[in-house]
Amino acid sequence: MSLKLNIQDKFNKELPADPITANGRRQVMKSCFSYVTPKTTANAEMLHVSSEMLNELGLTVDDAKSEAFLKVFTGNEVLPNTSPFAMCYGGHQFGNWAGQLGDGRAINLTEVEHNNKSWALQLKGAGETPYSRTADGLAVLRSSIREYLCSEAMYHLGVPTTRALSLALSGDQVLRDVLYNGNPEYEKGAIVCRVAPSFLRFGSYEIFASREDTTTLRILVDYTIKHHYAHLGEPSKETYLKFLKEVGEKSLAMVMHWQRVGFVHGVMNTDNMSILGLTIDYGPYGWLEGYDHGWTPNTTDRQHKRYRYGSQPDLVLWNLYKLANALYPLIDEVAPLQDILKTLQEQTDAAYLSMMQSKLGLFEKDENDLQLVTSLEAILQKSETDMTIFFRNLANFQKEGEVEGLAIVEAAFYNAIEITGELEGEWNEWFSNYQVRLKKEMLSDDERKTAMNKTNPKYVLRNFMAQLAIDAADEADYSLIDELYQLLKKPYDEQPENEKWFAKRPDWARHKVGCSMLSCSS
Ligand code: AMP
Ligand code: MG
Repeated sequence: MSLKLNIQDKFNKELPADPITANGRRQVMKSCFSYVTPKTTANAEMLHVSSEMLNELGLTVDDAKSEAFLKVFTGNEVLPNTSPFAMCYGGHQFGNWAGQLGDGRAINLTEVEHNNKSWALQLKGAGETPYSRTADGLAVLRSSIREYLCSEAMYHLGVPTTRALSLALSGDQVLRDVLYNGNPEYEKGAIVCRVAPSFLRFGSYEIFASREDTTTLRILVDYTIKHHYAHLGEPSKETYLKFLKEVGEKSLAMVMHWQRVGFVHGVMNTDNMSILGLTIDYGPYGWLEGYDHGWTPNTTDRQHKRYRYGSQPDLVLWNLYKLANALYPLIDEVAPLQDILKTLQEQTDAAYLSMMQSKLGLFEKDENDLQLVTSLEAILQKSETDMTIFFRNLANFQKEGEVEGLAIVEAAFYNAIEITGELEGEWNEWFSNYQVRLKKEMLSDDERKTAMNKTNPKYVLRNFMAQLAIDAADEADYSLIDELYQLLKKPYDEQPENEKWFAKRPDWARHKVGCSMLSCSS
């Protein structure tokens, strides 16, 4: 059986290709990608397939069970009339220009059109490319499970994201030093097929600007506008400016969703910023458990915490500044670029407040809301409070009668007995202010609860949940992957049968590798 996909390749047909086709590591000039063939694997095994993504691509559940599907989505067979390739890009990593990076362990298979949508299909972990630098182009099971489950969970949370079609074992062993402490071990290799309208990143443009290759830069920007921002019009200086503005707005909308659900990306380098404003490259990400603006899951960033939760909106702005620099050669004027960046910065504060208001169920206008939000953030951080449980349970607050705040959110505290004395007083004061403020709302308590429950998820992929699925998968039990996948399809629903996942991080996970400590080793 062959797979019936409506193949419509654009990227590798319209953009300049690297003329060298041998798969050796090198600097690739004046080209947007290099042709490369995925590595054949020892004994591939499909572990999970996303039924929604199958649908989106025009495939069926039977297709997913076929030998052809297994072979194509583990890189063991190339679809007829396609030419897989790795993309060339650069990036600023942790604040510094890192030069050429590129798809070191991602291989684009093809682009598919279905229901008027266009999807690029990409294998992560399918072997080395000219961009693999010192690494092997492979991915391990643990990080593949994390990317597979999280990208689909984010989609169902309403967060713009790349998607995932399939998760497979390669059958090969991969050597990794998880903690970078000189203790490498073999782990199971895996391959995720991820899917997005495009995998272009800020770094895709920066690489050409850094090389003063304005010709290729212009070709790529025009291509991006033609296929992904066509409503902006024909390429011109004006259009390029509108392009930056819209990429900026999309990126900020994305990061506000991250703040809303408590997602910390962990590695917001410019090579990990999608030009479509999608969450991309799930590596050492994590979910806030205790609400803490200073938290990052990424051990590689432990010292400076550049990509901590509270800094994410600012880092998006920093990355946009780098994108503006990359587009400058096409515009040749600083002032209009600066104006756009300044406006985006101003919009960020307003967007943050509005997001927090929706989490608190505040829909009427009140100029004191910023103060209410800031004071809440301060006490939340003094009390080690589980973000997800806190906001979900807060929806049960009543605007009339006795103020029962602490009782309502008690389950969210990691150490409820510590909420005494001055701290208890601060909490009670905050709840009193909240009640006064809620009286201004037109919605009834029930209506507000319904609205808040659409903003504040009940279920997210807590770090320990992903780790449980990984530990079971290491023992060849893949059932938890499916259980979590199903659970996270409806993150805003009560799902009383799944109440056990509406729980604080267990004590064993507090300092465990994979739960509170993640490295880029994947
Ligand atoms: P990341 O931190 O995952 O965004 O990766 C940064 C860069 O390193 C990208 O160019 C990746 O393609 C590359 N990279 C990460 N892991 C590997 C690997 N195992 N093999 C080859 N390249 C890799
Ligand atoms: Mg990356």
